[in-house]
Amino acid sequence: MQTLEANMKEKVQAAWNKRPLVISGPCSAETEEQLVATAQQLAATGKVDILRAGIWKPRTKPGMFEGIGAKGLPWLQKAKELTGLPTAAEVATAKQVEDALTFDVDVLWIGARTTVNPFSVQEVADALRGVDVPVLIKNPINPDLELWSGAVERVARAGIKQIGLIHRGFSSYGNTEYRNAPMWHLAIEMKRRNPGMLIVNDPSHICGRRDILQETAQRAIDLDFDGVMIESHIDPDKAWSDAKQQVTPERLGEMISSIIWRKEDVASEEYHAALEKLRQQINHLDDELMQIIGQRMKIAESIGQYKKDNNITILQTNRWNEILERAYREGERKGLSKEFITKYFDAVHMESINHQKKVLDS
Ligand code: PEP
Ligand code: MN
Repeated sequence: MQTLEANMKEKVQAAWNKRPLVISGPCSAETEEQLVATAQQLAATGKVDILRAGIWKPRTKPGMFEGIGAKGLPWLQKAKELTGLPTAAEVATAKQVEDALTFDVDVLWIGARTTVNPFSVQEVADALRGVDVPVLIKNPINPDLELWSGAVERVARAGIKQIGLIHRGFSSYGNTEYRNAPMWHLAIEMKRRNPGMLIVNDPSHICGRRDILQETAQRAIDLDFDGVMIESHIDPDKAWSDAKQQVTPERLGEMISSIIWRKEDVASEEYHAALEKLRQQINHLDDELMQIIGQRMKIAESIGQYKKDNNITILQTNRWNEILERAYREGERKGLSKEFITKYFDAVHMESINHQKKVLDS
C-alpha cells in the first residue's frame, strides 16, 4: 500500500506538469462494476492521467440521485489499484474531506455549488489544514471572479501548495446553446490573475450535451488551457446523473486524439518575426481606433454644449436606436457579430453620455 501511495504522489506530480492534462471518469460513481469498468476502459485508451468520480453529488432538486456516498470510496480505491490511475473526487464538507483522505483519494476538487459559498469553502479549507493534497477549484456557478479568487485564497491560506482551477462555465438566464455559458473572458482573466496556476477546462458541464464537447475542448486548448476534465461512463445513456453529456471511454479516447494541441510558443525565429509584424499592425490600428474614439467624444461634447444651451435631455432614445440600427447593418457587412456591435456601442454610448454630462454640469 505504502508503495502504491508513494507511486501515486509521483503520478499526480507528473500529471500536474503534463500538457495536456486529461481527467476523466463518470459524473457519479454508481456501482463498483460501473466505476471499475469505466476506469479500466479509460486506462486502456492511454489518454487519461487522473480518474474522476463524483461520490457526493450536489443536485438541484431533492429526489435526484445525490451520490452513492462514502460507500463508493473503496470502489475508487479498487479502480486505482487495478488501473494505476490516481483518483479525484469532489468534496464539500469537512467530513467528506476526512472520508476522501481516509480512502487515499489523490486529488480533491471543490465544486461550483460550493465555491459560491464562503462558509463551505472555509469549512473545506479548515479540514485541509496540514494535509498535503492537490486541490482543484471549480469556478462558482455565478459569474463572479471574486468568489473564485476568494476560494483559491482560503485554500491557499490553509497551507495547500498545489492548487489548480477548473473552468466549468457559468449559469446564465436564457442561455440555450450551453448548459453553462463559458464566458471565456472570465476564465482568461482568472488565468491572468494567477499566472502559472494550472487551469483545466470542463467542457462536459459547459456543454451539457455530447455533440459540442469536442469543439469546446478545442476552444479551451486554443486559449492555452492546460488540460480538460471530461465525464465518461461505460453506458452514458443509462448514467444516473448528467447522462446527456457523458461519453464512452472509447469516444473520450478518440476526442483526445483528435484535439489539436497547440503550443503557446514555438522557438522558430521566422514565426516570431511574422507574429511581431502582425502585432505591430494591430497596435497601430488600436492607436488609430483610440484616436478616432477620442474625436468622437469631442464631437459628443460639442453636442452636449448645444443641448445645454437649448435645455434638452442627454439621452434621446430615437437617436440611439438609429445609431444602433445603422451599426448592425454596417457591422453585418464587415462580419462583426450583433453581440459585439451591441457591447461596443453600449460602451461607446455610456462614455459619450459621461462626456456630455460633464459639459452639462460645468
Ligand atoms: C461534477 O463535476 O460532476 C460537478 C458536480 O460539477 P460542477 O460542480 O461543475 O457542477
Ligand atoms: Mn456531472
